[in-house]
Amino acid sequence: MARVVLITGSNAPEAEKLLARARRLVAERVGAVEKESTVHRSRAWGFEAPDFSNQVLVSATSLAPEAVLDAVNAIETALGRDRQRELAEKAATGQRYASRPIDIDILFYDCEVIGTRRLTVPHPLMAERDFVLDPLAEVMRDFVHPTIGKSIEEIRNERRKS
Ligand code: ATP
Ligand code: CA
Ligand code: CA
Repeated sequence: MARVVLITGSNAPEAEKLLARARRLVAERVGAVEKESTVHRSRAWGFEAPDFSNQVLVSATSLAPEAVLDAVNAIETALGRDRQRELAEKAATGQRYASRPIDIDILFYDCEVIGTRRLTVPHPLMAERDFVLDPLAEVMRDFVHPTIGKSIEEIRNERRKS
């Protein structure tokens, strides 16, 4: 069994409901959810859009990392994520991100460091995102980031100082 840490996010009007459905599907398709943060609300990061809600989930999985990615992509599609529509929105607005009913990113897979065409783990932008670090600190404050070599709490404290 591996421990995979996921973050779910939504900026749809029914975000809380979508996060709850995502959590159920993660438990069914990825593995039992052992820990979960509360839902955090924050401003959209990197583009102009309605506020996002985010939740961190820690799941015990027997899937390999790329199979977890396949599973979370399938959950996104099941919950209405339409990547073609997002491409059109990004082209129309010129922004890097588009609104989506659900986004699920892999933050950690045990202590593994993965860099393949489809997957970068730990997620490369997490240390710059309060909307990731805040819920993450609720469930694994003392976990040491495998490439940064500092705990989640230390990374947060250093961001506050800078
Ligand atoms: P960001 O990565 O900045 O949060 P995003 O979540 O909006 O951006 P997506 O359009 O959801 O980006 O995903 C683009 C691609 O990122 C996916 O097709 C997937 O192959 C790849 N990817 C690489 N590393 C990861 C990871 N750790 N978790 C999820 N997807 C990843
Ligand atoms: Ca994301
Ligand atoms: Ca994503």
